[in-house]
Amino acid sequence: MPHILLRHRDVENIHKLDVYRQHDGYAALEKAIKEMTPDEVITEMRSSNLRGRGGAGFPTGLKWGFIPKGEGEKYIIINTDESETGTFKDRELVEKNPHQVIEGAIIAAYAVGAKTIYNYFRGEYMDAAYAFEEALIECYANNLLGENILGSDFSCDFYCHYGAGAYICGEETALIESLMGRLGQPWSKPPFPAVEGLYRKPTVVNNTETLANVPPIILNGADWYLGIGTEKSPGPKIVCMSGHVNKPGNYEVPLGTTYRELVYDYAGGISGDKKFKALLPSGGSGPVITEDALDAPMTFEGLNDYQSVMGSASVIVMDETTDMVWAALKMIHFFKHESCGKCTPCREGTFWLEQVLHRVYDGHGTEQDLKTLESVAKQMVGRCLCALGEFAVSPVLSTIRHFPEEYKAKIEQAMAEREERTAVPA
Ligand code: SF4
Repeated sequence: MPHILLRHRDVENIHKLDVYRQHDGYAALEKAIKEMTPDEVITEMRSSNLRGRGGAGFPTGLKWGFIPKGEGEKYIIINTDESETGTFKDRELVEKNPHQVIEGAIIAAYAVGAKTIYNYFRGEYMDAAYAFEEALIECYANNLLGENILGSDFSCDFYCHYGAGAYICGEETALIESLMGRLGQPWSKPPFPAVEGLYRKPTVVNNTETLANVPPIILNGADWYLGIGTEKSPGPKIVCMSGHVNKPGNYEVPLGTTYRELVYDYAGGISGDKKFKALLPSGGSGPVITEDALDAPMTFEGLNDYQSVMGSASVIVMDETTDMVWAALKMIHFFKHESCGKCTPCREGTFWLEQVLHRVYDGHGTEQDLKTLESVAKQMVGRCLCALGEFAVSPVLSTIRHFPEEYKAKIEQAMAEREERTAVPA
């Protein structure tokens, strides 16, 4: 199947405007502006059932439909903060196929009546940012941005903003705070950004990959899109494969592809002819799954029976040699480092989870430590201000659930060594 999102792999130099236009580039924008009303664009997006590709899976058309009608400032923000562990799909899109993202964002602006678009970039993505800004310059020079786009009465400006590399700024309200020059910390919703977002005006925040789906949907129609993927999870998805696989990288697949196909067909199987042990389906924020879940379809609901989630589809594969206590420790270290500290359960919880896990991993654990880990993690669930706190407990609880023997072995060995050290000589 030709690529829909990663089109630069089929069409050389598609990052250049003239090449992009030779391959239907900006035809969707032209169709939207000249043949469709903003409401018709939103209806088409609703019919396509495109769901957000950043991880949450919220229906895009519905999100656009929440923006109040009428005059007044409104904003579109592209979330290119991409900081989830093992995720590198948006980087490829903005660097290699930037016009498709820009076109999707302009269509979104037209649909909701926004006159300003921001792209919030992850601070480390400077090469991608340069490529993206060059594409913007081409758009301004060719009446695709600025005043009276394509001869219509629709005008729109586009700005790029560069974050400082904080994971939490991928959360939409923290991103908005950061964009306004404040500390990147989430706020408690409501108000939702659709009502009060950037500068307290109605705002849509869409993931980069989500917006790259928009031009092909508008151009080919919702029915065409619904023919890809599954009924509840239509469309293509870029999957970031990393870890112990032979061919790590981004793969564009129809939703519904199984995890086994991803690991063994797309990513070429486990490296070094080792056995599969487990995978993280959504970087560090999705609970670990094991062999029994490999035939589950990668969809928004495909891992429900396995107590996990597709999320942003950053699949980190672990082979039989992986120490799962070490893996959990690495993940919780990341979340502790990235916790913004605003709410106590996350700030203190991630700190103590790391402390106790460290003790277990370093061979100083006790049976009580295992109980403490579960207790702290369970007390964080449902009590944190944003999703980061919930994500943080996933690697701990899921590795304890699937690999309790690895924790117990470390604790038993530590207890035996303690006993030996403290034994009174006969
Ligand atoms: Fe900050 Fe963590 Fe609370 Fe989110 S859950 S607001 S990251 S402290």
